[in-house]
Amino acid sequence: MPHRSIAVTRRQPLVATTITTVRRKVRILRAREQTIGLVPTMGYFHEGHSSLMRAAREECDYVVVSIFVNPLQFGPQEDLDEYPRDAERDLELAACESVDMIFSPETGEMFSGTAAGSRAGGFADTGSRTYIEPGPAAAGLCGAARPGHFRGVTTIVAKLFNIVRPERAYFGGKDAQQAAVIRQMVRDLDFGIDIRVLPTVREPDGLAMSSRNVYLTADERKHAQVLYRALSAARAAAAEGETGAAALRLLLEKSINAEPGVEFEYAEIVDADSMRPVEEIDGDSLAMVAVTVGGARLIDNMFLLGGKD
Ligand code: AMP
Repeated sequence: MPHRSIAVTRRQPLVATTITTVRRKVRILRAREQTIGLVPTMGYFHEGHSSLMRAAREECDYVVVSIFVNPLQFGPQEDLDEYPRDAERDLELAACESVDMIFSPETGEMFSGTAAGSRAGGFADTGSRTYIEPGPAAAGLCGAARPGHFRGVTTIVAKLFNIVRPERAYFGGKDAQQAAVIRQMVRDLDFGIDIRVLPTVREPDGLAMSSRNVYLTADERKHAQVLYRALSAARAAAAEGETGAAALRLLLEKSINAEPGVEFEYAEIVDADSMRPVEEIDGDSLAMVAVTVGGARLIDNMFLLGGKD
């Protein structure tokens, strides 16, 4: 019998670029009592993004992935213009995860009627608008190093929540402070959205996947492995009974500083929910690190005790 090949057609996600299109679809879905899952991203997908889409696919009737390189969360000297983009590949990867809709608005669509709408830029030229001022979880760590960053994140995520009205939204543990800031916003402002935070997806050598890893040369890529090595060493020390945050913090700083080509920014041991520094670690303590390698600012974190990562 001749072999018959069956063409597998993968359903492409609907690509929406306007808020009106999304709202129209959301109205229909809600009338049918379908649950909506939202995965907010800045695009240039990797396995970290795919893992969030997969979780959303498992738990929700309809999966929306937003792609928006949010100018509000970039400082004036940061990489907004160079941020990597590949819409075609993103669409393919989203299709692989059976995503229903990609919402990829132009900057002007998200900021219509404001200065940022006509002149997408950093924090400086965003015109007058309403912001969501994040709570204390945003104060230290990346919040201290990148003034205005988390206010940019909360403001855009709140807009996305209002546009998509999801039951659940999915974030990566890789950006642990962002996840804590969003959880606090949702609690404080009664969004009524279930915030799911998923484990960090890593390269085989331990480097946390990040769209910004494309900035690294082969040599820098090797130096960047120090983040995972330092965090693993801190976790091993904790497993052996070191519970003092000061000692663990020092261990992180020393390991990172011993690596050439890596500029140390911070190492802190904090509570995963409040992002407040702790003195003695427990099962909710996160080791958080930030460095610059070549032109790329890289962050990573790890739970020090227990099975979480
Ligand atoms: P981004 O496009 O970098 O803004 O990330 C979009 C979402 O993907 C955020 O919730 C990130 O925390 C999450 N994410 C980014 N990298 C990873 C990773 N390596 N593992 C898991 N989630 C990630």
